[in-house]
Amino acid sequence: MERLIAELPKAELHLHLEGSLEPQTLCELDPALTVEEIRERYRHVHSFPAFIEVFRWILERLRGPAEYALALRRLLERLETENVAYAEITVSAGTILWQDKPFASVFEALTREAARSRIEVRWILDAVRHFGPEHVRRVAELAVERAGDGVVAFGIGGDESRGPARRFYDTFRFVRERGLHLTIHAGETAGPESVRQALEAGAGRIGHGVAAARDPELLEELARRRVALEVCLTSNAAIGVVPRLEDHPLPRFLAAGVPVTLNTDDPAIFSTTLNREYEKAAVAFRLSAAQLRQIAAAGFVHRFHAGAR
Ligand SMILES: [Zn+2]
Repeated sequence: MERLIAELPKAELHLHLEGSLEPQTLCELDPALTVEEIRERYRHVHSFPAFIEVFRWILERLRGPAEYALALRRLLERLETENVAYAEITVSAGTILWQDKPFASVFEALTREAARSRIEVRWILDAVRHFGPEHVRRVAELAVERAGDGVVAFGIGGDESRGPARRFYDTFRFVRERGLHLTIHAGETAGPESVRQALEAGAGRIGHGVAAARDPELLEELARRRVALEVCLTSNAAIGVVPRLEDHPLPRFLAAGVPVTLNTDDPAIFSTTLNREYEKAAVAFRLSAAQLRQIAAAGFVHRFHAGAR
């Protein structure tokens, strides 16, 4: 089974660059740190607020273009060893603006670095929903401006309850009218209503979507509209979205015919890899080889690049 998973060509669709910084890479960026102390910080991420805190701590070490480019280089080196052929990498453009970092040169450094890799990389620029509509609009405009440079989608992350998707419907319409796709974190820290709002907003995929399992009609709608869920098992178990990984509703999604993809979310923080996510899914839910192949194929079917909207 491990071999099958390792050999499967895979796509990563929900992967935050900032959350991919391994302790070793952070030490390269900040030699005052030790690997052990970074591991210790990552180990204590057991709630969404703790996650936000560690994410901000990482952001302070990503000072400018050179640091972002190094983060990407190390990430792509790792993905190559896992047989990942395609990645849609989320960059928190919202926090780049918030911290007054030079977005244009950071993005240029990232695209230059991506061009050196064998992996086909596309970008999702993401805003911080609890920073409010004006902030979200500014990031959306950046995403639209970079549509010709590999940006395929716009997304929102952050605190779902403090930034419900309905607050940004006009911005989502703006983005979609200009040909970009939409992916929205929903049903991770809030209920099914949050997933409904993401659908209403025109999301082509849903980040996590765990809470959708509590609403059979919503599952039917996701299946009917072929909106894929970006499932991140280890992340969900780590911050308590599900009590234990085995309690994740992934089997219910599959049974309801909802398109499912497997992803790492923030692989360094949650100490995981894409192959490990497949292995954990296979073991916890006794997935067959055919099901694993189907999930891997879904990663390509539901990618935003060159995919039908
Ligand atoms: Zn995420």
